[in-house]
Amino acid sequence: MNPRDPAAEGALSRLTIDLGAVRRNYRRLLGRLGGVSCAGVVKADGYGLGADRVAPALWAEGCRVFFVATLEEAVRLRPAVPDATVCCLNGLLAGTEAVFAEHRIVPVLNALDQVARWRRFGDTAGRKPPAILHVDTGMNRLGLGEDEWQRVLEAPDVLDGVDWLYLISHLASADEPEAPSNARQLARFRQVRQRLPQGMKASFANSSGIFLGPDYHFDMARPGIALYGGRPNLRDPNPLECPVRIEGRILQIRTVTAGTAVGYGGSWTSPRASRIATVAAGYADGYLRSLSGVGTVALGGRSCPVVGRVSMDLITVDVTDVPSAEAFAGAFVEVLGPSVTPDDAADAAGTIGYELLTSLGRRYVRHYVETPAGDRLA
Ligand SMILES: *Cc1c(COP(=O)(O)O)cnc(C)c1O
Repeated sequence: MNPRDPAAEGALSRLTIDLGAVRRNYRRLLGRLGGVSCAGVVKADGYGLGADRVAPALWAEGCRVFFVATLEEAVRLRPAVPDATVCCLNGLLAGTEAVFAEHRIVPVLNALDQVARWRRFGDTAGRKPPAILHVDTGMNRLGLGEDEWQRVLEAPDVLDGVDWLYLISHLASADEPEAPSNARQLARFRQVRQRLPQGMKASFANSSGIFLGPDYHFDMARPGIALYGGRPNLRDPNPLECPVRIEGRILQIRTVTAGTAVGYGGSWTSPRASRIATVAAGYADGYLRSLSGVGTVALGGRSCPVVGRVSMDLITVDVTDVPSAEAFAGAFVEVLGPSVTPDDAADAAGTIGYELLTSLGRRYVRHYVETPAGDRLA
């Protein structure tokens, strides 16, 4: 945090993003991968952190392949990493071939009609256009299904005329290491790979998949959430650090007697005489309304409960146990960050860290920092 930044100084809420932490997370994943290469998934604007800032930070760590969901995201990302391989997961919509080519975006082809169209486009241009082949192995969302795969086996030349960079598939339950579907998908992926031309590289593991072990690593991993600090699963300790911190200012502190109803609907009533801080963060900032009565914030090294309903721009927090030297109007509290991680908040809200991060609001003053190793946001 730069206290001399005038915009940040006057702001009621601020979002700090530590690109140093993102880079360290990438290095931690590389350590797990033991020599296997690692792409960066920066779809949904880098899971809410800003793809245009996250991708160059990863590039500086040696990341050369990036995945986004849509063509629009890919085109927007292109200038941030001009020499990277930028891949578009959601496939090749008819009529967009020239846009892919113009911006050197690699489509992930999810069906044989997409393969045929990309090949025809390449034929017209007189070259073999690069692409990634996505084969479904049990997720049943995107990728060549069983029937289309049979057609490939019957007529392998349907894959001719394209420069295949990778074969990929996606795990449905990688965050549950004990789920039997992981091994089933792995066996299926190996089977598919054996039938494809020798030397076609393969990529299987998302963040959680990396932690399933080397069998899942193949030639390249595709982590997203782990770069942003999300835990790989519930079994292992989370080795990653949280690169985001959202702080909201206390706007007012009021002292209430026992039996006072607070906020919309009076859904919370103070059980004792209490000090209630009204903090500038609400669901319009991505502080989910389902955190009403179950969320916590961090102030002065303490965890304080969010009481009453989350409203659009405000939350109310019980700070009775925090000394008034720390809980005062104008002070910042951490509503999400290293002390209240997106995973923790998501557990309380009944959702997942992915949703919390990608819901981050637009109203915050965004602040990018790059802390050195050993110096965390906390
Ligand atoms: C989103 C996505 C990833 C990254 O998943 P994380 O769980 O965030 O690591 C990898 N591969 C595909 C196909 C995806 O859609």
